[in-house]
Amino acid sequence: MKRRDFIRATAIAVPAIATANIAAAPQRKVKEPLKTKEPELPSMQFRNGRFKILQLTDTHFIGGDARSQRAIDNVIELLDAEKPDMVIHTGDIIFGKPARENLTQILSLITDRHIPFAVALGNHDEEFGLSRHEVLEHIRQMPGCLNTSAKEMHGVSNDVVILKSPDGKNQWAFYLFDTGNKAKEFPELKSYDYIHADQLEWYRQTSRRLKQENQGTPLPSLAFMHIPITEYLDGLSDSRRQIRGNLGENPCSPIINSGTFVTMREEGDIKAIVCGHDHDDDYVMKWRGLYMMYGRYSGGDTVYNNLKPNGARILEFTEGSSSFKTWIRLHGGRIEQTMTLPDDF
Ligand SMILES: [Zn+2]
Repeated sequence: MKRRDFIRATAIAVPAIATANIAAAPQRKVKEPLKTKEPELPSMQFRNGRFKILQLTDTHFIGGDARSQRAIDNVIELLDAEKPDMVIHTGDIIFGKPARENLTQILSLITDRHIPFAVALGNHDEEFGLSRHEVLEHIRQMPGCLNTSAKEMHGVSNDVVILKSPDGKNQWAFYLFDTGNKAKEFPELKSYDYIHADQLEWYRQTSRRLKQENQGTPLPSLAFMHIPITEYLDGLSDSRRQIRGNLGENPCSPIINSGTFVTMREEGDIKAIVCGHDHDDDYVMKWRGLYMMYGRYSGGDTVYNNLKPNGARILEFTEGSSSFKTWIRLHGGRIEQTMTLPDDF
């Protein structure tokens, strides 16, 4: 058959098949599979058109240890000064035994103030006598905790919290990724763990569902996690990156790149990644269309920390806007790095 004849034959054949399918369809008696109802995602609402998240990170708390007093003083001062609508703790919450008591003591500074909170666990949280699952379950029993139980994927603190307008419309999504501890699959690399394929698949599906519910437009989102992805490190060595804030040490990212950055860019909803883990960094870097930022070390002197005083990052959202404001509040009251993204750089 000559090429032209083939095209003509195909052109005729396709509608014929299509018609046959349409005609046959009503006769088919296919039982609809029972749809399991998606569990409701935890959600929050704007208050007077605003919503403020305070990000704590790396409190490395040890109860009864004088070096942790600075962590307690810092958390109390910041919560009372900023009065956030929600707290996200990006991990390394504790740094000693007994884990349950220490988790309760530091996190009850949040719950005593009736502030809802969620956590993305750090690499150290599972090292003090409780497994990662047990740590999450203990935290989940505390009032106001928004984390859901662990899902069928790597890590336990993978979640998404939706911010809604008063009329119930989704406005923002805040993803929490569990970045684990060590990469068990590559023991020879001695690498930190990475975000695994099943977590990215969960993110992709959730992101697409939220996009569908948002009339086909990606829902503006942020991603919170403990360990920075490898692009934090890649971006630093590219002179085209833009950076604001303190860069006191190189990012201790995993050696393995599992494609998180690419997946987020493909879905088009994540505006910024917010992490912890590296205590001497609190910068915001713009690179290849994403803001990659750190929180501010919130703990005391139980581990290294050279950015003094301690503090926390704040992220504030205004109803109807897909940009957001962020700043760092330091213990003692000074404010740094006030910026609106993506408007400011
Ligand atoms: Zn840490």
